[in-house]
Amino acid sequence: MITIFLGAPGTGKGTIATALKNKHHYKHISTGDLFREITRSGTPLGNEVKAIIESGNLINDEMTNKVLVEGLKKFDTHKDIIILDGYPRTIPQAEFLDHYLTQHNLKVGKVILLDVSEDILLKRISGRISCKNCGASFNTFFKAPMKEMICDVCGHTLIHRADDAADKVKVRLETYYKLTAPLIDYYKKQHKLITIHANKEESALTEEVKHLIEQH
Ligand code: AMP
Repeated sequence: MITIFLGAPGTGKGTIATALKNKHHYKHISTGDLFREITRSGTPLGNEVKAIIESGNLINDEMTNKVLVEGLKKFDTHKDIIILDGYPRTIPQAEFLDHYLTQHNLKVGKVILLDVSEDILLKRISGRISCKNCGASFNTFFKAPMKEMICDVCGHTLIHRADDAADKVKVRLETYYKLTAPLIDYYKKQHKLITIHANKEESALTEEVKHLIEQH
């Protein structure tokens, strides 16, 4: 079953998907995480991807679609509950996904739009810190680690993402409204869109999303 998490940066897509993966064995594909992995390769392609991510812009659709397909291949797409987090982000990506899934006798199930007011969104992004070692995420406003900038889970140092800097966030939000928000209508027309108000606390939100995904 393929579920898409849609929403602006900072709406909690990655946090909820990670919680569902850790607690309920859902599978999680984050194209952002896959791209960050590529940047760590240190190759010319990795450096190119890094520069684009840090500018706040999107990677081109062709490369993004390839990365998505490689991500899907790691799972049993007919049996696993797979969450796509951060993909699709453009109409051509959504069209590619529909086409690819049709070819594999699959289709997009539910599309969950996480809706968050802009003031909370900005705090979620500017306060976001995460652990490079184990992936745990924290927030200086809402979920501070016990020791400043130290991961509660594994004790490694926490980092701010370079693209979470204020000027980059502006670009990312503009990109979201221009290229990604049209997907809301795209999936509304397919009767797949479910909007949830995501201003809530993480565990309550995770349970609400789980319930929605598993509801027939
Ligand atoms: P995220 O972690 O989802 O916020 O993604 C971080 C960055 O990776 C984005 O700002 C883009 O530069 C790139 N990226 C992730 N997913 C996509 C996508 N579906 N299409 C294009 N670029 C993407």
